[in-house]
Amino acid sequence: MYELTINLHMHTTYSDGTGSHADLGHAALKTGVDVLLVTDHNVLVQGVDAYYHEGKKRVLVLACEEIHDQGRVPQKNHLLVFGADEELATLADNPQTLVSAVRRLGGLSFIAHPVESAMPDFGETAISWEDWTVTGLTGIEIWNGFSELKSIARGKLDTVFYAFFPEAIPHGPLPETLHIWDDLLAKGQRLVAIGGSDAHALRIPLGPFHKTVFPYEYHFSTINTHTLTPKPLTGKLAEDRQMVFEALAAGHCFVGNDLPAPTHGFRFSAQSREANVMMGDETAMTGPVTLQIKLPTIAEIRLIKNGRCIKKTTGESLVYVTNDPGFYRVEAYKRYLGKSRGWIFSNPIYLK
Ligand SMILES: [Zn+2]
Ligand SMILES: [Zn+2]
Repeated sequence: MYELTINLHMHTTYSDGTGSHADLGHAALKTGVDVLLVTDHNVLVQGVDAYYHEGKKRVLVLACEEIHDQGRVPQKNHLLVFGADEELATLADNPQTLVSAVRRLGGLSFIAHPVESAMPDFGETAISWEDWTVTGLTGIEIWNGFSELKSIARGKLDTVFYAFFPEAIPHGPLPETLHIWDDLLAKGQRLVAIGGSDAHALRIPLGPFHKTVFPYEYHFSTINTHTLTPKPLTGKLAEDRQMVFEALAAGHCFVGNDLPAPTHGFRFSAQSREANVMMGDETAMTGPVTLQIKLPTIAEIRLIKNGRCIKKTTGESLVYVTNDPGFYRVEAYKRYLGKSRGWIFSNPIYLK
């Protein structure tokens, strides 16, 4: 398998970001990202899908969309839509109709920032997800780089600190979000976890100047979704696009915070007598199954079964043999800037 680093969920000047698609492409070339999924609010920008090159480096930029009902007060229910190829923002007032339409068109839908806090000092409301009865979703954004600021900054002073030291922001997915995700998995919903940056590269006035806070390069080095694909990028746009969306739809991916250390190389797989599967996959149990976890470097590893931690250790790998059906996923934590922080969050392997 090949690993692609995808940064997803970001905004350009077509909505409330400050850069163009080309700016994003060039910023990504300075980092290790392979693919960008750009999600402007309620507009599917046409004609911007492209590769950007610099020397031997290549980045694939794909226009997707973040859809919400602009008439809804207060603002809730933001949905990331990938690969639907049709403007669906007019369906935003009914999340179920919207999600069903995405599925009918062969697209992918992910709940964006499912749990959020308000930031009253800045007039920011909590844009959480409300309609938990919606079915047919592809998955859920368990970690959102920009949204996390809203839950950790306690007032204006904190926010100014984080504006100057954004590396201190990522702590991990909100426990409540992970809890909701585990609950839905336990009810049989196969929701794929992704991590988004929600990059805007905001420009704020600072005396006679402007400062760009949380620049695109910062976000592209932070929370990424890493997919495992059968091939590397081929350079053929339609083919690569399909391969990326197929890997995400299958849950062949993990969320990595690449600030404490690169997460590239993480693997989580299961071997039984009959099958060898990876995260996102299901396998029938006819005997013991060996779960294998491999990290790129030493960290605290937690193996989670049906939402409960069943094994905690520190190391670069973990092998665990089980006879019990359930959904198994991995979390890894690493110290960075004086704290233990969320580093890697895998999709589950389903043992039936
Ligand atoms: Zn949003
Ligand atoms: Zn957004």
